[in-house]
Amino acid sequence: MSAKIIDGNALSAQLRGEVAQRAAALTAKGHQPGLAVILVGDSQASQVYVRNKVKGCQENGIYSVLEKYDASMSEAELLARVEALNNDPKINGILVQLPLPPHIDANKVIEAIAAEKDVDGFHISNAGLLMTGQPLFRPCTPYGVMKMLESINYPVRGATAVVVGASNIVGKPQAMLLLQAGATVTICNSKTRDLGHHTRDADIVVVATGKRNIVTADMVKPGAVVIDVGMNRDDAGKLCGDVDYAPTAEVAGWITPVPGGVGPMTITMLLVNTIEAAERAAHG
Ligand code: NAP
Repeated sequence: MSAKIIDGNALSAQLRGEVAQRAAALTAKGHQPGLAVILVGDSQASQVYVRNKVKGCQENGIYSVLEKYDASMSEAELLARVEALNNDPKINGILVQLPLPPHIDANKVIEAIAAEKDVDGFHISNAGLLMTGQPLFRPCTPYGVMKMLESINYPVRGATAVVVGASNIVGKPQAMLLLQAGATVTICNSKTRDLGHHTRDADIVVVATGKRNIVTADMVKPGAVVIDVGMNRDDAGKLCGDVDYAPTAEVAGWITPVPGGVGPMTITMLLVNTIEAAERAAHG
């Protein structure tokens, strides 16, 4: 294997150390950072995600509350909980775990979160601030990817980057962050005619589609940085990404594994966003 591995666990541990220090400094001044996580329904995957988010808070000095509700909760009841947390001074960040049950309009709920507590960065005003180059919160997964590039001192300015996937929570904000860092960015989606034509030219390839092996070794320029956001299961039920890992690692210069790559970074950046929110709240 020729590619160097960008280790999301190691980088997360380092960043969490910084989070714990900033949390302790805020707590010493009477402003302990606080995160509220709301889970509606009993999806197994969501339960694991919220548990890890709360655990990340507990381990790093961030106050956290986990509110769990039955899938039958009404939209009005959920909106009322969000409003109460908007007005709770102990809470700096509010996260409503997605997906929500189909009878609840997720957009309406996200728009109900106070923008200054929207630590996921999904609120429309935060999306607009990101788009116009003045982000308040950077969505956690793309923010983590930028930290990974920073950790290897990658010269993003002037680089060509291809983002495969254009969702509101990963692909689009990823493209914006790369653009702001000075990259020349192409965004691909499911209608893209020849994906390899685009990826083969790129210095940086970020893949976030949820489609296993969508990027293969022949689609990557030798020496490129390949960041795999995808989370899938292989035929044996093992967690894997969107990139055909072993052959691609022979070609790439840097690569992120799945598991142990972008995944741990996402929760770490949620903690970072909560600290940023708490620092802003404390300093007025
Ligand atoms: P999503 O909302 O389903 O979006 C998928 C995107 O991929 C869409 O823009 C879609 O294009 C595009 N796409 C699908 N097939 C494609 C193809 N053949 N060629 C090019 N683009 C294609 O998914 P998401 O929420 O962004 O998540 C993507 C993956 O990342 C999933 O596996 C998810 O589990 C994972 N994820 C991981 C983390 C983490 O922490 N590691 C965090 C979030 C998400 P259209 O726009 O044309 O439909």
